[in-house]
Amino acid sequence: MNKIIVDIDNTLWNLAPVFFEYLRRYNPEIPIEELKRGETGLKGYIPREDLYGILKEIHMRQDQFEPYPEAQQFLAALKEMGLYVIIASIRDEEARDATERWLKKYELMYDELHLSNDKTVLFNDVWAIVDDSIWTLDKAAHAGIVRTGLRNVWNDGRGHPLFDTLPQILDYLKRRYSSK
Ligand SMILES: [Mg+2]
Repeated sequence: MNKIIVDIDNTLWNLAPVFFEYLRRYNPEIPIEELKRGETGLKGYIPREDLYGILKEIHMRQDQFEPYPEAQQFLAALKEMGLYVIIASIRDEEARDATERWLKKYELMYDELHLSNDKTVLFNDVWAIVDDSIWTLDKAAHAGIVRTGLRNVWNDGRGHPLFDTLPQILDYLKRRYSSK
């Protein structure tokens, strides 16, 4: 069991500011600053299909955005540990080309690219997951796999081992891997 799932959005790159900018343009009434602080949700401001539409638009332009500066080294280090890296993102299959171009452009190493609306289908065969989604982290905890991710307002204080940087996440994974 040497497989690890690595999320893309808000894990390998900073999606949030781009997403907030799209939201601001979509509906100037959306309280972006409160949203950033995690004080409000999007309920009532945007229908679900429009929300997915915005995310798809961003994903179709993936190769125009830069990853976090530590992302390349982070993935390379996972490979050096002997891990099989599954990059997994909740996004439309139509965004695969743009996503692959992005991974190649920034030399982000991986073994498999999984695009779907549910990463839990991978859970019975993996050692760990790196993700910021509270829904996914909860499912990972329940499945008993190692989970971690970058700390954000939407996932902090919910009982998951989260960190501020990718190198800190890497240290945590190394500790867990050596005691496995
Ligand atoms: Mg994410």
